[in-house]
Amino acid sequence: MSRRDDVLRELGLGPIWRLRRPAAESVVAAASPIPSAASPAAALPAHDRSESIAQLAWDDLDAAIRSCTACALCRARKQAVPGVGDVNADWLFVGEGPGAEEDERGEPFVGQAGKLLDAMLAAIDLKRGDNVYIANAVKCRPPGNRTPEPEETAACWPFLQRQIDLLRPKLIVALGRPAAQTLLQSEIKISAARGRRFDYRGIPLVVTYHPAYLLRNLPDKAKAWEDLCFMRRLMEGQ
Ligand code: URA
Repeated sequence: MSRRDDVLRELGLGPIWRLRRPAAESVVAAASPIPSAASPAAALPAHDRSESIAQLAWDDLDAAIRSCTACALCRARKQAVPGVGDVNADWLFVGEGPGAEEDERGEPFVGQAGKLLDAMLAAIDLKRGDNVYIANAVKCRPPGNRTPEPEETAACWPFLQRQIDLLRPKLIVALGRPAAQTLLQSEIKISAARGRRFDYRGIPLVVTYHPAYLLRNLPDKAKAWEDLCFMRRLMEGQ
């Protein structure tokens, strides 16, 4: 059987699908106190903070994310999860926020949803770290893996914007609604937005289902496959 067949099977598009049991969720990570002295960037008014983040090079951006105390998510994180991959990547995938395993390991999409994301990438001949960068709308784990609050995505937005400015990818893929709404700065529904080409400051942007959603809604994997083909076509057309 070919690798493509293996991948399609993994995506649930082949004859057999076995859902792996999700890893046991650790309850909310142990809370550590917010550092008493807020970091200099967090102490700035929002506009000045965005302006200063917009000047950062990769290393300083990474350090700023790791020491950020701009929202309450810093209280429960084990570590911030800035992003991973090829800083010259053409493809940028943006998720919602780290889960328990990502918080533990410091890398996005390393849990069950990450395994599916890797399979989705492989289905279109992509590989984590090779022409692909993966980031999240929020860089710290929302306790209990809840959806990030608007003020949390807003606080993290300058970091994602700076990542995009530094990367200048050829295509941005928003995985799920929170990522799509953050990137487009407007309300959307994935079912209505998929299959469309949006624009983020001149960069084509598409939306698709979040891998964690697909693990719970197996029939929608066929739609995710259509979305992957759409992304490929868009990229080939550039
Ligand atoms: N879900 C996300 O949105 N991001 C991760 O990094 C992991 C799971």
